[in-house]
Amino acid sequence: MKKLVFASNNKGKIKEVSDMLAPLGYEIICLKDVGFFDEIIEDGSSFFENSLIKAKTVFDFCHLPTIADDSGLMVDALGGAPGVYSARYSGESATDESNKALLLTNLKGVADRRAKFVTVFTYVDENGNVYQTEGQTSGRIAEQEIGSGGFGYDSLFISDDLNLSFGLATEEQKNSVSHRSRALKKMLETLDRK
Ligand code: IMP
Repeated sequence: MKKLVFASNNKGKIKEVSDMLAPLGYEIICLKDVGFFDEIIEDGSSFFENSLIKAKTVFDFCHLPTIADDSGLMVDALGGAPGVYSARYSGESATDESNKALLLTNLKGVADRRAKFVTVFTYVDENGNVYQTEGQTSGRIAEQEIGSGGFGYDSLFISDDLNLSFGLATEEQKNSVSHRSRALKKMLETLDRK
């Protein structure tokens, strides 16, 4: 098995990525396995930049092939916000609930509710070469929460592909159309070609 560091502490994501990469002969190791415990400052202005910052920071620390991802929600009527600020849209001590409440307030009376989730995966290979892939999924922001599944903005996002709120979708349904799985699938093709 080839070892690949995943620059994330999110258990759900680590499992998803491990499951998809194992058939290609990759063993995913996480930050604590390589002794990385620092906080990474994500101060880029795009998902590409933030994803690269995470992957490069960890690669420079351990010099092992590394992947990282960065995601967020972009709402057309808000000029692409919350974008890279999705996790802390309502401030430094933001929660999913306070972020969703602010989003609904900012979209009050707005008819155009189109939005998309975006993920960028970055892979830094053993020689420091960088590869990036992007995945998107489109939908619209509901007038109020629908369902309680998922995380983040899921219960406010009505997927175009599923015609269903991600808050009501099963994990399988969401994974079949999600920005993250689409970006990861493209990254698998890149890794497979190497
Ligand atoms: P991360 O970069 O994947 O940690 O995502 C940053 C933020 O974007 C999260 O804290 C969520 O608020 C939002 N987000 C990203 N992906 C999703 C998703 O699949 N569903 C709901 N919210 C998401």
